[in-house]
Amino acid sequence: MKLLGAHMSIAGGVDKAIERGQSIGCTAIQIFVKNNNQWQGKQLSEEEIERFKEKQKESGIFVFAHTGYLINLASPKEDVYEKSMGSMLEELERSERLGIPFIVLHPGSSLDTPKEDGIKKIAKSINELFKKTDGYKVKIALETTAGAGSSIGSKFSEIGEIIALIGDKKRIGVCFDTCHSFAAGYDIKTKKGYKKTWEEFDKEIGLKYLLAFHINDSKQPFESHKDRHEHIGKGTLGLEPFRMILNDKRFNNIPMCLETPKEPDLFDDVMNLKILSRLIV
Ligand code: ZN
Ligand code: MN
Ligand code: MN
Repeated sequence: MKLLGAHMSIAGGVDKAIERGQSIGCTAIQIFVKNNNQWQGKQLSEEEIERFKEKQKESGIFVFAHTGYLINLASPKEDVYEKSMGSMLEELERSERLGIPFIVLHPGSSLDTPKEDGIKKIAKSINELFKKTDGYKVKIALETTAGAGSSIGSKFSEIGEIIALIGDKKRIGVCFDTCHSFAAGYDIKTKKGYKKTWEEFDKEIGLKYLLAFHINDSKQPFESHKDRHEHIGKGTLGLEPFRMILNDKRFNNIPMCLETPKEPDLFDDVMNLKILSRLIV
């Protein structure tokens, strides 16, 4: 069975995200482990964690996490960097307590400093975080980015460089975002471009590091370096890239989640999941 679903809100408790996913037939969901626009979250209680684990077990839904949006491990600004490290540590602790296998992270933006410095800083920070969380199972999945401004991770080689510098390679992986990588200049629309993209991914990163997909169409054109998600089939990607990904045997056991626009009522997710399901042969 395909591990397919969408990002789900944790409003009302982390366990509620599983109920929401289950209500529309998700076999995988992505969640934030705390408010995504704050540095720190309110403490998770043992009861909430137990409820989450129980629901996860009985539903069989694959759950992975995404970090908050403020975190920037490549920031040259000392205050932002310190807060990012503190917040990231908290995210890892929360994920570990919830039994979540990995948390997706935007690698970071080097701002007015060279990208090369940013890449080294990200790797050094992750090594430090892994040391502080020695014995944990939770991994970090670096997300491919669109490459707006000084954001790192739009080229597979940049992600490969970070991974090369990580000490504990068992705890590092990658999340491929279809919208981001198309906007970054990886043409996954054509058969030829799709094949070439995965050859480059394997060469620069290694397919064994692929942990998850963010399944999003794009509002913006190829190579625009803009990160704007669109409903499946309604954007510049169309349906073909999703057909190829969903039927690619190499990705059979890789969880795939939508991050497409939605109202709180999940109607849009239902529609997008229906479109994706029809593409599976
Ligand atoms: Zn992301
Ligand atoms: Mn994404
Ligand atoms: Mn995005």
